[in-house]
Order: sequence, then C-alpha cells, then structure tokens
Amino acid sequence: MTIVDTPERRQLRELTRAFVTREVLPHLADWERAGEVPRSLHETAAKIGLLGIGFPEKVGGSGGDLLDSIVVTEEIIRSGGSSGLVAALFTHGIALPHMVAAGNDDLIDRYVRPTLAGTMIGALAITEPDGGSDVAGIRTFARLDGDHYVVNGSKTYITSGLRADFVTTAVCTVLPGSGALSLLVIEKGTPGFTVGRRLEKLGWHCSDTAELSFVDVRVPVTNRIGPEDTGFLAIMQQFASERLSLATQAYATAQRCVELAATWCRDRSTFGRPLASRQLVRHRLAEMHTRAEAARAYVHDVAERVAAGQPVVTEVAMAKNVAVAACDHVVDAALQLHGGFGYLRDAEVERHYRDARILGIGGGTTEIMNEIIAKGIGL
Ligand SMILES: Cc1cc2nc3c(=O)[nH]c(=O)nc-3n(C[C@H](O)[C@H](O)[C@H](O)COP(=O)(O)OP(=O)(O)OC[C@H]3O[C@@H](n4cnc5c(N)ncnc54)[C@H](O)[C@@H]3O)c2cc1C
Repeated sequence: MTIVDTPERRQLRELTRAFVTREVLPHLADWERAGEVPRSLHETAAKIGLLGIGFPEKVGGSGGDLLDSIVVTEEIIRSGGSSGLVAALFTHGIALPHMVAAGNDDLIDRYVRPTLAGTMIGALAITEPDGGSDVAGIRTFARLDGDHYVVNGSKTYITSGLRADFVTTAVCTVLPGSGALSLLVIEKGTPGFTVGRRLEKLGWHCSDTAELSFVDVRVPVTNRIGPEDTGFLAIMQQFASERLSLATQAYATAQRCVELAATWCRDRSTFGRPLASRQLVRHRLAEMHTRAEAARAYVHDVAERVAAGQPVVTEVAMAKNVAVAACDHVVDAALQLHGGFGYLRDAEVERHYRDARILGIGGGTTEIMNEIIAKGIGL
C-alpha cells in the first residue's frame, strides 16, 4: 500500500519542493557551518502553511494528518534538503503534540499557536545524561510547592535546545526514577534554567543540540500538560509519529542517495566506459533502489494504519528498523560509488552519510525497537 496520491498531496509536494529550492538550498551549506537554521526560516515556512502541516487548524495548524507530514518530510529530503534540516525546522513535531492532545486552551494559545506561526521555537527534553532509553528512569525531579513545581535535574542531546523559547520537559513528580512522569512546559529565561554549550556532532550540523540544566526552577502548575503522572503514557503515545518521521527520513535519504549515485554512475567513466554500464554497478544500484522502495512501502503501510487509529506499536518499531537498515546500507554504498569525491564536504552524499547515523539512535534506538518487537511477538 502507498500513501494515497491526492491532488492536495501533489500540491503539497510541489509547495515543499519550491520551498526547499528557493529558501533552503542556497543557504544549507552556511547553516551547516553555523550549526543552526535561522529563526526567519520558521516564519517563512509558516507563512506558506508548511510548518503547520499535521496540526489541526483549530490550534493554528494547516490541517492534514500524519500522512501529509510524511509527504512533507519525504519531499524535503528528496529535493536536496536533509534529515538534519527536518530535525531543526520541525522540532515542534515532537515538542507540541502532547499539548495538542491534552487540549488545554491556555497552553495552546501561549505555545502551540506562536510556534506554528513560526514566531516561537519549541523543543522536547526527555533524555538525561544518565540515560535515554530507559524513559521510566527519568530523574529530573519536580516538587510541588504551592501553585508551582520546583524543578531540579538535567537533560542532554536536546534538538533545537539552543534556540528553543520553551521546552516540553519530562519530569518525575514522586521519586526520582519512579516512572511517575509529568510533562512541564519550561520557558527559556526562567531563573535556574540554563542552556549549556552547543554539542558538536557527527552529522545533523544545521540542527543545534544542547544540554539543559534546571536548578530550583519554579514552573507554574498551569504549565503542566495534562494531569499529573500521565506523562509516561503521553510520551509513549507520541513516539509513534516521531518514529515514523525518523523512518521516513531514513528511506527518503536512501531514495535521494540512490538518485545521486545513479546520476554519478551515468556521468563517471572508468577504463573508458561509464560506471553505469558495468553489471556490478548496475546490480548494486538495483539493490539499493529495492531496499529503499521496500522500506518506503512498509513505512507507508504502517503510517496508514497509525493514521487510521490502529494499535501498531510493534509495526512502528519494525518500520523504523527496516527503514534505518535500508538507509545505512544505501548511504554507505552510494558514498562508495562516488569514490574519493564521496568523502568530500562538497558531495551531498557525504552529508547524508553523516546525517543518517543518528536515525538508528534518536527516538528510540534500534535495540530498543527490537525489545518492543520481541515483546510484540510474545517473548
Ligand atoms: C543528535 C541527537 C538529537 C537528539 N534529540 C533529542 C531530543 O530532541 N530530545 C530528547 O529527549 N532526546 C534526544 N536525543 C537523545 C536520543 O533519543 C537518545 O540518545 C537515545 O534515546 C538513546 O539514549 P542514550 O543516548 O542515553 O543511550 P543509552 O540508553 O545509554 O543506550 C546506550 C546503548 O545501549 C543500548 N541499550 C540500552 N538499553 C538496552 C537494552 N535493554 N538492551 C539492549 N541494548 C540496550 C542502546 O540501544 C544503545 O546502543 C537526541 C540524540 C542525538 C544524538
């Protein structure tokens, strides 16, 4: 099954492609060097309705569902953008959904609407220096004191953490490590909340990543998302769309690298003949294309089922692993086919090779996906 190709989705692809061509490609190399994308890009994307795709109009979004978000992600990468760009520009895809699901008008007005309008940037902070896979083991502690929580702890590897105006933060409210989690929206500038250094990374260079520290940070109870101690469930429920986004980034990166490698192999001659005329090279490209296409088809199938409200936690985990495995294989083979040029910063394939490595780590590692799959088959 494939995502139904409606006239609206064709338009959405064209809109996305035009946006990437005009607003991203001329600047992407500079943003990679700067370590972040400019805030103005969020406003530009919001103005044309791209930023709000997948969020209902009643909260300031542009409408559409998970499948439309997938179309945007696919098209960004296939137009020459990158998974790093998706991470930086669409961080709200992980920072806002819990607020939207909880339906608190005050939080929606203060954070969701301005973020979808491109005037605020949000981040999601779950991972801690002591560990990210074990979400129930979160130690950042929020003690209730009147109409405020007093938050102490730290988070790390937080996407858009340097630029974020607010952070949707997972805290525990009973005992550190007890698994009784809540989500608090913590604003930049709140006394005791400090953003640490910019973390240097292998890839995703245009996406800023930060450590966050909370020392006696007073957060109003009104900034809690949903009832107390429902945070773990809220986080798990939203993991499906984050994991499918990462899976989409993986197969779209693979598809883009197949295209780049095929073009290169048609143009590059060795020993008097184009590389693409050699059976070994043709078969290698055929295998790369097959893996990317198979991953795309499976991720689309699972995404359709998620969008239809089916309980497919195991399938989401399998979709992420299938797409990441396809991507890992393809980026490596595509770089190899480029020869020495593939190793240079000037080669687009070099960026995808570096960017791809995070996809099997973020949003739950390949090993954690395998744990979910093992449980799903009754082990
Ligand atoms: C660029 C980047 C951006 C990120 N953005 C965000 C963000 O915006 N917000 C956020 O909250 N986090 C973010 N993360 C964190 C990411 O989600 C975590 O790195 C990831 O969940 C893994 O957690 P960890 O690094 O603590 O590894 P650990 O949990 O310490 O795991 C280390 C290794 O052990 C394996 N492992 C762990 N438990 C088991 C087990 N039971 N069985 C077998 N193997 C196991 C893991 O698979 C991994 O290979 C980001 C990370 C990076 C690098």
